[in-house]
Amino acid sequence: MIAHMTRTHPVKNGADPLPDRTETIEDLREKLRRYELIFQATNDVIYDLNLEDGTVVWNEALYTQYGYEHDEPTGTLEWWTGHVHPDDALPLENRVSTLFDGSTNSWQHDYRFRRADGGYNYVHDRGLVLRSGNGKPTRIIGSLLDVTAQAQLDIAKDEFIALVSHQLRTPLTVIRVYGEMLTGGAFGQLTDEQAEWVRNMTQSSARLIDVVGAILNISRLELGRINISATQQDILKLTRDTVKGVAPLAADKEVEIAVSLPDSLPQLHVDTIIYVQTLHNLLTNAIRYTEAQKGRVTVSIDEADEGYVVSVSDNGIGIPLDSQPHIFERFYRARNAVGAETQGSGLGLYLVKVMTDTYGGKLWFESTEGQGTTFYVWIPAGGMRPL
Ligand code: ADP
Repeated sequence: MIAHMTRTHPVKNGADPLPDRTETIEDLREKLRRYELIFQATNDVIYDLNLEDGTVVWNEALYTQYGYEHDEPTGTLEWWTGHVHPDDALPLENRVSTLFDGSTNSWQHDYRFRRADGGYNYVHDRGLVLRSGNGKPTRIIGSLLDVTAQAQLDIAKDEFIALVSHQLRTPLTVIRVYGEMLTGGAFGQLTDEQAEWVRNMTQSSARLIDVVGAILNISRLELGRINISATQQDILKLTRDTVKGVAPLAADKEVEIAVSLPDSLPQLHVDTIIYVQTLHNLLTNAIRYTEAQKGRVTVSIDEADEGYVVSVSDNGIGIPLDSQPHIFERFYRARNAVGAETQGSGLGLYLVKVMTDTYGGKLWFESTEGQGTTFYVWIPAGGMRPL
C-alpha cells in the first residue's frame, strides 16, 4: 500500500528525500516493510491527498477501522468530504481554505467522520502540507487519529456539569434561603440554641454552593468553555469594590485590611468576573489563614514588566516549605491550613491559576511558615487575552 502511495505521487519540490544510491533493493524493501509496520502499529488512518486533482490514497486502516469494503470508491476528496458529519463540514471547509491564504505547513482539525455502519467517529486530523514553488498547497499527507473515547468523555463531563448545576445547586440554595428565613424570625422566634444550629446549617449549605460553583467553573475551564470577555476597566475601582466585599469577613475576625494603590492607572482590558474572583479568592484566603485580632492584610498594585502586579499580603500562618510546590494542585491543602481553618476545598487557588494561565497572566507567591504569605498576580499591560 505504502509502495503504491509513493508510486502514484512522484517526488515534488525536493520534499521527499531520494533513496541513497548505495541502498540495495533489499534495504529499500526492508525500509518499506518497516513503514508499513509502523503504520499498522499506530492504527491510525493515513492519507495522501492530492489537492490538484482531488485524489486520495488511504492506508489499510481506513478499511479495517471504519468498516469500508475495498470496492468502496474512497479515492476522491469528494468521497471524503461526503463522509464528514454535516455539522462539521462547513468549519472543515473554512479551515481548509485558510491553507490557501497562509504559508503554514502543518495542518490539524477535529471533526466527525462516518463509518460504513452509518455511525460517526471523532477524529483528530493532522498532516503536513506540501506547496508548489509559488506557495500554493498541492498535497497533504496526514493521519486521522481516533479520539472518540476522549470526545465521549467530554460529552459525559458536559452532561455531568449540567446535572450538577441544576440538580445540586437548586436544592442547596433552597436550604440556604429557608435557613436564613428561619434565623431571620420569618417563622417565629427561635431559641438561641436553635438559631445557632440553623446558622451552622445555612453556613454549611452556602459553603457547599461555593464548592459546587468552583467545581463547575473548573470543569468548564477544562472543557475550554469559559470565554475571557475583557473590556476596558478601572481596576482601582474593581479592587476597592472587591475589598469592600470581604470587609464583613475581615470584621468578623478583626483582621485589618490596608489598601495601597496608585492614585490613578490607565484603564485595563480585563474580564471583571475573573479579576474580582481572583482577588476575592486571594483576599478571603489571606483573612482565613491569619490569626483573629492579630491579622493584617495589604492589597497593592504596582507597575512591573510591561504589566501590573496585584499583590495580597498577610501576616498569617504561612505555607510550609514542603507544601509550597503543591499549592496550585486541585484539592491540595497544607497541613497547617487544615488545622487553622476547617472549611476549605483546596480548589480556589487551582481555579485562579488556571484562569490566570488562560488569559496570559502569571500567578506566584512568597511565604514563610508562621510569618505570612504574599500572592502576586501579573496582568499584561495589553490586558487579559480573550480565548
Ligand atoms: P482552600 O483555602 O479552600 O483550602 P485554596 O485553593 O484557596 O483552597 O488554597 C489551597 C491551600 O493553599 C490552602 O488550603 C492553604 O494550605 C494554602 N493557602 C492559600 N492561601 C494561603 C494564605 N494566604 N496563607 C497560608 N496558606 C494559604
